[in-house]
Amino acid sequence: MLHNGAGRATAARMLDLLRTAGTLSRVELAEQSGLTAATITNVVRRLIDDGLVHEVGRESLQGRGQPRRLLELDPSAWYAVGIQVDRTTTTIVVVDFAGGRVASAGLRGSGTSGPEETVTTLADHVTDLLHSAQVPRDRVLGVCLVTHGPQDRERGVLLTAQPTPEWLEYPLTSTLSQRLGLPVLLENDATAAALGEQWAGTVATDTFGLIYMASGIGGGVVVDGDAYRGRASNAVEIGHVALSGGRTPCVCGNRGCAQAEAGPRTVVEQVLADEPLAERLGVRGAIDSTLADFERVARAWRAGDPAATAILERSARWVGQAAVTLVNLFDLDTVVLAGPAFVTTGPLYQRLILAELEERALSRTLSAPTVLLSTDVGTAAAIGGALHVLRTIPVDRDTLQHRSSAPAPEGEP
Ligand SMILES: [Zn+2]
Repeated sequence: MLHNGAGRATAARMLDLLRTAGTLSRVELAEQSGLTAATITNVVRRLIDDGLVHEVGRESLQGRGQPRRLLELDPSAWYAVGIQVDRTTTTIVVVDFAGGRVASAGLRGSGTSGPEETVTTLADHVTDLLHSAQVPRDRVLGVCLVTHGPQDRERGVLLTAQPTPEWLEYPLTSTLSQRLGLPVLLENDATAAALGEQWAGTVATDTFGLIYMASGIGGGVVVDGDAYRGRASNAVEIGHVALSGGRTPCVCGNRGCAQAEAGPRTVVEQVLADEPLAERLGVRGAIDSTLADFERVARAWRAGDPAATAILERSARWVGQAAVTLVNLFDLDTVVLAGPAFVTTGPLYQRLILAELEERALSRTLSAPTVLLSTDVGTAAAIGGALHVLRTIPVDRDTLQHRSSAPAPEGEP
C-alpha cells in the first residue's frame, strides 16, 4: 500500500512523528496521526520490512494488559547531506535517518568564486566527509543545497547575480547532482533553518517565525506546520523591512532597512569608523570576512568591551524592531534566532529582541512573546536542509530499486 500516493504520505507522516519523538508505540502513532489502529499496524509492518523502523523494548503500562512495544527509526537506514553555502561561510553536515548528526565540516564561503568552481569544491568536500564518516554513498538519500534567495527550487537555480554574474541561472543542483551521483534539492537558508527547528529543535509550537543572520539578515515563517516560501523562495525578507527612524541607504534601493541599519556588515563598518576600536578588535573589513570580523566584535562584547557592546546592542534593538513587524504580520508569539552571526551574540540579541517584542508586539497582552536560540544556532540551515531531504525524498522499495540501477557519479567506476 505504500506504493500509492496516500500510502506513501501516511508512511512519511509516521516517519516524521518518530523522527521528532524518538520512540513511540503504535497506539501513540494512532493518537498523534488520527489514523486507525489497523492502518498503523499495516504501515508499520511495511516500514519494518523495509528496514526503516525497528522495535526497541517495551513501555510498561503499570500492570494493565500487555506492554506496548516501542518503535524507533533505524538511524543507519539512510543518510542525508545538508550544505549551507554563501559568500562568507560554508557548512556541510551529514545526518542519519533519525536526524542525528553524524559528521560536519565548516569551510570558507564561496567568496567571489564562480559557481562551477564552488560546486566542484563542495562535491569534493562532501565526498571526503562521507568517506571519513564511513557513510556509504549508496545509503545517502540526497543532498540539500541551502543558500540565499531568490531561487527557482524546481529548476534548482538562483535568480540573482550574487556574488558574481555567473551565479544567475547557473544549473546549480543538476551540476552538483551529476558530480555526486545523488539527488540534490535547493532551499532558502532561513526556511531550511526553520524546517530544522520544526522537526529537530525544541520549539513547542507549529507556528513561529525565524530570524536568520549570517552576513545578511533573512527570515522564515512556519504557520500551522507549513513553511511559507513565497514565489521565489525569498519570503519573509525581514532584512528589508524599513524601520522607523532608519535613514541608512540599503542595497535594495530603500532606506532604513533592518539589514542596512543593523546587519553584521553594518556592525563591522561601525567598528571600522572608529580606527582605534578597529585596531583593538583586529577588525579589517574585507567583504568576504564579514562574519569573522563580526565574531571579533562579538568576542569583545563577551569580554566586556563597552564600545563593542554599544554597537551590538544598537544592532540588536533594530533587529528587535524588525521582529515586531514579523510577529505582527503573521500573528506569532515565538521567534527563533539561527545563523552563524548568533553563535556568540545569541544571548544578547535574544534579550534585546524579547524586550522590543514585550514593549511593542501587537499580541503581547494576549500571549507573552518568546525568543529562542536555535538548538544548532550556527549550523541550523545545513541541518534543516539535511532533514528536508529525509522528509521529502521517498524511502520505499521503489527508491531502493531505482537507486541501485542509477549511474555512478563522475570519476568513479
Ligand atoms: Zn533593503
